[in-house]
Amino acid sequence: MKAIRRFTVRTVLPEGLSALDELAGNLRWSWHQPTQELFAFIDPELWGASHHDPVGLLGMVSPERVAELAADKQFVGRANDLRTDLRTYISEPRWYQGQKDAPASIAYFSPEFGIAAALPQYSGGLGILAGDHLKSASDLGLPLLAVGLFYRSGYFKQAISPDGWQQETYPVLDPDGLPLSVLRGADGAPAQVALALPAGRTLFARVWQADVGRVKLLLLDTDIPENDESLRTVTDRLYGGGGEHRLLQELLLGIGGVRAIKLFSELSGREFPQVFHTNEGHAGFLGLERISDLVAAGLGFGEALEVVRAGTVFTTHTPVPAGIDRFERSLVEAYFSTDLLPGVAVQDVLALGTENYEGGNAGVFNMAVMGLRLAQHANGVSKLHGEVSRGMFSGLWPGFDQADVPITSVTNGVHAPTWTDPMLLRLAEDKLGTIDTTVADWRSKSVSDEDLWRVRGQMREQLVADARERIRDAWQQQNPGSVVPTWIGEALDPAALTIGFARRVPTYKRLTLMLHDENRLRAILTSKKRPVQMIIAGKSHPADDEGKRLIQRLVTFAQDPDIRKRLVFLPNYDIGMAQLLYPGTDVWLNNPLRPLEACGTSGMKAALNGALNLSILDGWWNEYYDGENGWAIPSSDAAGDAAERDALEAGALYDLIEHQIAPRFYDRNKDGVPVRWVKSIRHTLATLSPELSADRMVKEYVGKLYTPAGKAASVIAADDYAAGRELAAWKDEVRRDWSGVQVLHVESGGLAAIPRVGDELHVRARVQLGALSPEDVSVEVVYGKSLEGDSLEDMTTVQLAPLVEDGSSAATGAVTLDGSTTFAGTVTLKRPGSFGYNVRVVPKSQYLASPAELGLVTVAH
Ligand SMILES: *Cc1c(COP(=O)(O)O)cnc(C)c1O
Repeated sequence: MKAIRRFTVRTVLPEGLSALDELAGNLRWSWHQPTQELFAFIDPELWGASHHDPVGLLGMVSPERVAELAADKQFVGRANDLRTDLRTYISEPRWYQGQKDAPASIAYFSPEFGIAAALPQYSGGLGILAGDHLKSASDLGLPLLAVGLFYRSGYFKQAISPDGWQQETYPVLDPDGLPLSVLRGADGAPAQVALALPAGRTLFARVWQADVGRVKLLLLDTDIPENDESLRTVTDRLYGGGGEHRLLQELLLGIGGVRAIKLFSELSGREFPQVFHTNEGHAGFLGLERISDLVAAGLGFGEALEVVRAGTVFTTHTPVPAGIDRFERSLVEAYFSTDLLPGVAVQDVLALGTENYEGGNAGVFNMAVMGLRLAQHANGVSKLHGEVSRGMFSGLWPGFDQADVPITSVTNGVHAPTWTDPMLLRLAEDKLGTIDTTVADWRSKSVSDEDLWRVRGQMREQLVADARERIRDAWQQQNPGSVVPTWIGEALDPAALTIGFARRVPTYKRLTLMLHDENRLRAILTSKKRPVQMIIAGKSHPADDEGKRLIQRLVTFAQDPDIRKRLVFLPNYDIGMAQLLYPGTDVWLNNPLRPLEACGTSGMKAALNGALNLSILDGWWNEYYDGENGWAIPSSDAAGDAAERDALEAGALYDLIEHQIAPRFYDRNKDGVPVRWVKSIRHTLATLSPELSADRMVKEYVGKLYTPAGKAASVIAADDYAAGRELAAWKDEVRRDWSGVQVLHVESGGLAAIPRVGDELHVRARVQLGALSPEDVSVEVVYGKSLEGDSLEDMTTVQLAPLVEDGSSAATGAVTLDGSTTFAGTVTLKRPGSFGYNVRVVPKSQYLASPAELGLVTVAH
């Protein structure tokens, strides 16, 4: 029989053990080894059975054991010490407190958060990244307030049928059994947010709070009696439904999320955020709620938009068009033709998400496009992805070169304390004197090759044991009541070269590239001399049958009796599996279609544990591969078609494994240590760990995005939004009058017949400004390497100054009889080789973050 309702009865802990409640209630335990050890000590077996979940464990432990622990002075003392440590961690000044001009409060919105296996509110990389962002933000002391949704069934649980087809189940989570507490109003009743919907309906949500170290996470939940049945399911699953369901989730996340922050600020006295960061476009509606508030405070829509933009950061995460949310325009229109956002006209909303550029579709509302229009600060998630994004969205800034598109990049990172195996942490502590593996001196002789290789071997053994257990469980699920075959106990070899591959299964990640030549793969796997084994995992989106077919193909291949001990597919990839998988693999494989992997983070997590990467030069690997930390699979961008490309890249993959990787792995000294390989491990740990750490990433966000956004937000809000009003009026004027701007004539001089490096080029441009004045514009020489077809590369800009009649420059320009202004300046030739330049005019204001912001530019012809 199935239960129709579930809830969790918590153990009542005696006063003396109250520290356990506090420690279990703050997710810092998920990256704090000593706290995990404390819970494991309570009952090692139940700790395993709870999948390392302190709240779950406390729900299972017997009253007798609790009484025993309460009488154990040493245990009580340890628990109290850890509670003191947690309280100190939460309140002491950390890195952020030493930063100048950093914002006093930052909101971080994401549709998913992957923090711990015990809180399954994520589907893949985006969510894990968000979880890692919160953890590092906490470690660094950022005043971050995070907002998401609470999904009753999270994403889904994956099983594989005997014929290899993915099966999804949606076990219902009980929030009372999770490290969450409901946000209550001053009267003690659960606080609620409400959203007006079409046809006079209202969507209500309560707000769960989670503590992630010092970061507060608010999760909105619609499964409450105030909603009718259809609205209770708005937060049923992550990425579950289609159009309207998805839109409701995103309205709740963005608009409801800001309302939840307002409630929380009122109730807790915490400062309302100055900076709003939206992790991907899903939360983009948050900007509209803030605009609505500003309109209520007396601003016009355009003014409010400028104020919101100044303090908003938008991160785009995918160059795959299918990964971007687009809604039918009419659907968005219906939802905003209501009382949802007082003071905001539906046409203004629609304009923000319109794809009014070449190749755009006028019938859709694009969340990424709105995200970029609502944010003055935007970024991609690796250098290459920044470049790709500037190209992909360049239609929003017509007339500008791709390099001018105002989207920067911050390469993702991963939270080292979460993702580094405790065995490696212990080695660092014992031999290198620090538990922080990102600063440990991995090249030091203090840790011998033998030590390092031994720990790597233990991590591999741990993975093999876990994988066998998972294969056994899966087999039993598929064949209930039958005897488990012996081969499962012999699957995988704890000493063999182990390649890991796990990720979501969208087509571009090419799960089955390795199967391109099955015979070749078979030979590699079954080699007597240099055996190779592969451990593979990944979930396909439930609606993606193509992805499920890829899994089926792989599973079918792995059923072959010759193969099944060497290549295994582990069902239900999640954080718990991942934490053993990355440390246990020798080589982490990634073979996406370049450049569709925006960053990729699993390889980073593997590298933090000393695994070497084998990857297409995409995402993070494109910027960090150095020849010593792994191998690059050459991408065949120039191949005639997809099939040819797959063939070439698969061939390169087999070659690398056969001729480089396996020989190096099995090249051992007399003690059985692969000295050359260990050298690469040391190099990887020493050089990549600090770079790949989420601390590096979060610090970059603070420096490049949060601090500028915070400053812009405070400038624009000062004196009752004086600058916001000024900027909006000025933009209107500039947009209206821009058609009058023209470069009439450009002349240059000052160079010898054969110019040399160091010479100066004098440039003068006569510009018609129409109704605008010289202070409204920046007239610039853009110069660089001149290529074939007159295109410029590696461009630099130099601003020209307006001239007065006598030829000297002055702050205000002299307008000649025909109404034009002359601008002049000098370029020093710094580089030999071909040189080209042009002159352009762009709008100029101290409040702009980029000259491309208005999408207006006039170039000389
Ligand atoms: C890191 C991680 C991902 C994302 O990996 P990518 O390489 O970025 O695709 C997905 N799922 C889990 C469980 C992870 O730990």
